[in-house]
Amino acid sequence: MARILINHLYKRYGKDKLPVVKDFHLEIQDKEFLVFVGPSGCGKSTTLRMIAGLEDISEGEIYIGDTLVNDLPPKDRDIAMVFQNYALYPNMSVYENIAFGLRLRKLPKHEIDLAVKRAARVLEIEQYLDRKPRNLSGGQRQRVALGRAIVRNPQVFLMDEPLSNLDAKLRVQMRTEIIKLHKTLGVTMIYVTHDQIEAMTMGDRIVVMKDGIIQQVDTPEVIYTTPNNTFVASFIGSPP
Ligand code: ADP
Ligand code: MG
Repeated sequence: MARILINHLYKRYGKDKLPVVKDFHLEIQDKEFLVFVGPSGCGKSTTLRMIAGLEDISEGEIYIGDTLVNDLPPKDRDIAMVFQNYALYPNMSVYENIAFGLRLRKLPKHEIDLAVKRAARVLEIEQYLDRKPRNLSGGQRQRVALGRAIVRNPQVFLMDEPLSNLDAKLRVQMRTEIIKLHKTLGVTMIYVTHDQIEAMTMGDRIVVMKDGIIQQVDTPEVIYTTPNNTFVASFIGSPP
């Protein structure tokens, strides 16, 4: 069960600094597709990085399932993260790129082979497994980055603006694929974007943030029709 509880979370970068994430309190349901949206600098990435264990928590708690994860290193959290600047290893084949994390964990060869091929099948990149990243299109490379996350079979997926380096057409196509992937894998997803259209089309629920503070959490429909305040209304583009 990958329910996530974020309990009155704060982040300060430096002791005397003002918090950049303030009293962030939220329960994320098992298998939900949740989107964090808000303008640049509002604290989306910082919050996601605290959930991933890549950033210390200043105050508050994070539970994944029933486990308090505050002091757990990233590798011990049942999580995979996909970033905007996913770096593939240029000298390795697609197969080796996807297998890399499993090799580090010293899994038996046949298990690695099964896992890589299963991920490649889900992402429809089976025919590219022997290629080097430079011989792939942007969309194919993005799929390899997703493959590296999937192959570890995590319960929770965290994605931080994974599509912002792709051109507009591909971005729209990959949105649909990520939604499909979420359903196929049956994972809990937290997806970060500054793009309100992306948020509205992808999320089961959306968390609208401003200046480190949650402004509203609800379904796209409710946020659009009954925004909590003028910021949410103008950011989402609700009718007056
Ligand atoms: P977003 O992802 O919504 O664009 P971030 O979480 O990256 O926002 O940043 C939130 C705030 O925290 C910003 O004001 C940013 O400048 C600040 N910040 C982010 N990372 C650091 C850091 N490592 N040190 C100091 N301040 C940071
Ligand atoms: Mg960010």
